[in-house]
Amino acid sequence: MSGTVRLPDVLPITSKNIDYLNKITVPDLSQEISNSKTSIQESTIALLSSTSTYPEEKVKQLEEMYKELLRLEEKQKFLSSKLIELKAEYKEQSADLPRLDLENWNHYLNNDYNLTNIRKKWIELQSEEVEINKKDQWLRVFYALPYIWSDPSRVIPYDPLENNNNTEEEEDIKVDGGVIDLNCPVSLKKFNLPMISLKCFHTFDDASLKELFRPSKTIECPTPGCGKVLTTKDFTEDKLMRIRVLISDLRKQ
Ligand SMILES: [Zn+2]
Repeated sequence: MSGTVRLPDVLPITSKNIDYLNKITVPDLSQEISNSKTSIQESTIALLSSTSTYPEEKVKQLEEMYKELLRLEEKQKFLSSKLIELKAEYKEQSADLPRLDLENWNHYLNNDYNLTNIRKKWIELQSEEVEINKKDQWLRVFYALPYIWSDPSRVIPYDPLENNNNTEEEEDIKVDGGVIDLNCPVSLKKFNLPMISLKCFHTFDDASLKELFRPSKTIECPTPGCGKVLTTKDFTEDKLMRIRVLISDLRKQ
């Protein structure tokens, strides 16, 4: 045996180290991530506005950076929720255990009480892969850009928003052809601030929606044959439509 004393990996919770445990948190980077996402979106728009040929490589770089941010965002959520679980688990496990003393030293050293090794588990969790949110509005823009660059009204072959599985197997199912109208179906004017319903994926201009929602908190989707009952909460900015309009405007210059 060497002369150094080995400390147990796991120790019971005492009133002293419970404070320490409570102080361990995942740093909240949500504001920084959100700012960086916005800055990538703005850079993409600036890039598209500055060129007449499709800047494929640069768009790909921005897309990779953006995906990295989405990954970081998911990782943060994942680690925060796991940490809460770990703390609760540890507190429960060690609630009735004796304080470390010479008598039980070896029990703790051998982890006979089966305490979770938080440090080890935490390191394992750090390296776990997380799924990014494939339905992210700007990721959808990146996916669509190569298709809509030359024709902003073009239907994209696969819409990440409308698909629930994570594969692109259904890529070829959508029939080629058909056009996306860049005008709001209610006001018949070109989209200014397009908003998409996440219940039926129909898009209307924000100004039209304000009119539609004026008399009531719920509306039936005005798209013929849809009729889904919608509230303002079902809508989010349709960034893809915004980019379609932007590209269309750039073509006209
Ligand atoms: Zn609808």
